[in-house]
Amino acid sequence: MQLLEERILRDGKVKDGDVLKVDSFLNHQMDVKLFGEMAKEFYNLFQHDNITKILTIEASGIGIACITAQVFSCPVIFAKKSKTKNIAGDVYTAKVESYTHGGTYDIIVSKEFLKPEDKVLIIDDFLANGSALTGLVKIVMDAGAKLAGAGIAIEKAFQPGGSLLRSQGVRVESLAKIKSMSGGAIEFC
Ligand code: 5GP
Repeated sequence: MQLLEERILRDGKVKDGDVLKVDSFLNHQMDVKLFGEMAKEFYNLFQHDNITKILTIEASGIGIACITAQVFSCPVIFAKKSKTKNIAGDVYTAKVESYTHGGTYDIIVSKEFLKPEDKVLIIDDFLANGSALTGLVKIVMDAGAKLAGAGIAIEKAFQPGGSLLRSQGVRVESLAKIKSMSGGAIEFC
């Protein structure tokens, strides 16, 4: 998506550890008009999939997911990052390794909000090693719901997440795919 790629080139900052900072329009301050354009792209890709729920993960996915859900006219569920050790049985859970902060945490979704009759579109801001997306896919599978696929804003294609999930048969659609950002120079696929 050209608009997003241009914005990444203009305002993105490459940090140590192959982290792309996009705090000025996506991860801290949010450009809602840009989100609207991204939502339209996701709709073009998944409009025939009869999506009934959008699933994302707190916190950075929520903004994009909400704007996207307006176009699909469906609710958004965000997986919560849980600090609770003893998680009750009324939730689906998965373990996720944090790319940006290190360590592992649990994510939870209440069983009340995800049902076998749901058709789910997962939305997230970044795809790197694929841990967050793998956790979200597990939750959809555990619920017995159908997975339409995943809409990702920025995929770092030089990291393994995209290939991993696609090799498992998950439809992953990324609006901007970064081939390389070595030396701070961002190149798209
Ligand atoms: P993964 O689980 O695929 O390794 O990483 C995806 C998650 O880590 C995303 O939900 C996102 O919050 C965060 N993340 C991964 N790479 C980056 C990055 O380069 N920049 C930012 N801002 N977040 C990232």
